[in-house]
Amino acid sequence: MSNAPDTASTAMIFIKDPHSFNAFISNAKAAGKSIGFVPTMGALHAGHMDLVRISNERTGLTVVSIFVNPTQFNDPGDFKKYPQTLEKDIQLLDKTGTAVLLAPRTGDMYPAGLQNLETYDLGYLETLLEGKFRPGHFQGVCQVMNRLLKMVEPDQLFMGQKDYQQCMVVQRLLELMKSRTRLVTCPTVREADGLAMSSRNMRLTPEQRAIAPGIYQTLKAAAQQIPHESFESIQNQALQRLADQGFRPEYFEIADARTLKPAHSFQPGKQLVLLVAAFLGEIRLIDNLLT
Ligand code: AMP
Repeated sequence: MSNAPDTASTAMIFIKDPHSFNAFISNAKAAGKSIGFVPTMGALHAGHMDLVRISNERTGLTVVSIFVNPTQFNDPGDFKKYPQTLEKDIQLLDKTGTAVLLAPRTGDMYPAGLQNLETYDLGYLETLLEGKFRPGHFQGVCQVMNRLLKMVEPDQLFMGQKDYQQCMVVQRLLELMKSRTRLVTCPTVREADGLAMSSRNMRLTPEQRAIAPGIYQTLKAAAQQIPHESFESIQNQALQRLADQGFRPEYFEIADARTLKPAHSFQPGKQLVLLVAAFLGEIRLIDNLLT
């Protein structure tokens, strides 16, 4: 694509080449449009589309990116098997109008290759929960987000509470970048049975899919116990409940919702978040619940 597409169009616009994207986004900004940004790895579902809806409501132009970022996968097998459904994604976005799809290639994002990339000071956020169990994951998230944010320079960035710790890491990145972009954390969209929507859900077998809502049920049961029982006991019961249902839990934690540091006892007025990661077969699922 050599010329920047017309920003007045309402149909979805698909741009692969970063140079064309730069020209397009500059035109949109010059025309006074506020920019919303929804970064994704594709295999779009209703959770992603809700972020697009919220962005469309609050900004003049929504940019959606689809890029399966190799540097954030600590497990190469997970990267290889990550679902890619670009044609379907385009059809879904087409229905929303007012969206621009940016789908760069790996070479565009990492022209100097994937080795010796920059690192970010994420402090303790990298040592707990997802940071602890997925070494290097949040460095990869920051590497790709830094590049995408520099390309889009959005007014508002829309991300899902489903990835609670990721939102905190990206907020930290925005501060490190001295960015003027405002992060908007949007509620988790769930299936009717409570399972948090995720691109990885499509890899579950029918048997695993039937078990999967147990994660949310366990979170809800634990949240009800919070004022009444010791946190250690609640955690142990939740881990046992998950194991009994056929999960291989990695963690079940009760944390301060503001800092993500472990919480040890109930204090009225202090918001908590319960966070869980558990495998079903080789599929790793995460979820969380604010109390
Ligand atoms: P992903 O494609 O999984 O990297 O996710 C892209 C964005 O969509 C991230 O900000 C996620 O937190 C968000 N997201 C993923 N699943 C959901 C969901 N079920 N509800 C709301 N947002 C979600």
